[in-house]
Amino acid sequence: MLDDVAVREIANSPETDRPLAPGLRRERVLSIAHHTDKLFSFRTTRSPSFRFQSGQFAMIGLETQGRPLLRAYSMTSAIYDDHLEFFSIKVPNGPLTSRLQHISVGDSIVVSGKPTGTLVLSNLRPGKRLWLLATGTGFAPFASIVRDPETYSDFDAVIAVEGCRKVAELEFATRVVTEVRSHEYLGELADGKLHYYATVTREPFHHNGRIPDLIAANAIASDLGLAPFGACEERVMMCGNPQMLADMKAVLEARGFDEGSSGQPGAFVIEKAFVEK
Ligand SMILES: Cc1cc2nc3c(=O)[nH]c(=O)nc-3n(C[C@H](O)[C@H](O)[C@H](O)COP(=O)(O)OP(=O)(O)OC[C@H]3O[C@@H](n4cnc5c(N)ncnc54)[C@H](O)[C@@H]3O)c2cc1C
Repeated sequence: MLDDVAVREIANSPETDRPLAPGLRRERVLSIAHHTDKLFSFRTTRSPSFRFQSGQFAMIGLETQGRPLLRAYSMTSAIYDDHLEFFSIKVPNGPLTSRLQHISVGDSIVVSGKPTGTLVLSNLRPGKRLWLLATGTGFAPFASIVRDPETYSDFDAVIAVEGCRKVAELEFATRVVTEVRSHEYLGELADGKLHYYATVTREPFHHNGRIPDLIAANAIASDLGLAPFGACEERVMMCGNPQMLADMKAVLEARGFDEGSSGQPGAFVIEKAFVEK
């Protein structure tokens, strides 16, 4: 039997003392930014052995009652950063995010060591322009892609499009794009190539409307002063709510675009498992 002192020691022992299942590691929270009552982002330490490709996701989470509670999360940090960054929803009563939204600097999170995902440049055939179409936290994988120098050597133009319900929800993407543009080295590569287009559906904003409608009507290229969509070899990545993905897929397939996957690069790729409603 354990005495009172032993019970107290176990109860107070940090989760970080306990062994984790193989393939999982702990990282420490370095900073947190709450963007709205529904969105936040945070940075953690990064084990040097944790490698990923821009656009991939990993299973991350918290230890609750000694067990890891994990969900899929795209890395938003660059592949070369010495920290990891994630952009998260706060789901009311969501098993993970109802807890994750309360993390503090110094807390530990659990990260699985096997990143994967379809939103990687190698799943696309070479092309001229890269369209990154996201709604809400679907922008997460594209944050690492716009932070990757290879993106700008592979494409003449990179058009990051984000659709949100409210203007305040654009803060994270706006910050990422501003960071890239002002970055000492990346800024030069992205100069004249990186275009950012935000559209809001439930508040007045300078661009309104749903992404598939705006693409079909050629509004985005026109507003950005670019050649119409379809004028050159377009490559498209999409992530976000299922209706946007289904409608965009229909728009693209009607124009003869084929879907890519690992081993069979195509003209567009979708993160199908990303279920945002
Ligand atoms: C491949 C992949 C990548 C993902 N990347 C991210 C990411 O980078 N950032 C992120 O916040 N989430 C991401 N998700 C969703 C994430 O895995 C969790 O679902 C989310 O963190 C909520 O976890 P939860 O346990 O609180 O609630 P869950 O029980 O997982 O979800 C409850 C409900 O909340 C809604 N929901 C879940 N995630 C979202 C979301 N992101 N936006 C809007 N509604 C949502 C859905 O209706 C879902 O049924 C990703 C999912 C997949 C499959």
